[in-house]
Amino acid sequence: MLKVKKKAKPEKIILAEDIYILWQDGHESHISYFDLRDACPCASCVDELSGEKTLDSNTIPKDIRPEKSEYVGNYALRVYWSDKHDTGIFHYKVLRDFDKST
Ligand SMILES: [Zn+2]
Repeated sequence: MLKVKKKAKPEKIILAEDIYILWQDGHESHISYFDLRDACPCASCVDELSGEKTLDSNTIPKDIRPEKSEYVGNYALRVYWSDKHDTGIFHYKVLRDFDKST
């Protein structure tokens, strides 16, 4: 089992066929756009109180892609999606943990 450093931060993020992240500790992650969009943690995709996902995965375009992304502080990445959804902020920890579940 790979040990995840709590302070792992991206060295480089490249938006290509998927999201490629090179972490400062040398680990590399590939995350599909659809999967990441589907995991959007914002208030319109997840019920803030119950933590339950309210986003219907079927409403996500299969060819979803980010139009741009920006760093939020030094802890997260904000993605502007091609379906005009831009309220999702993905913490690095979530991104880092993402490819462990696939
Ligand atoms: Zn969302």
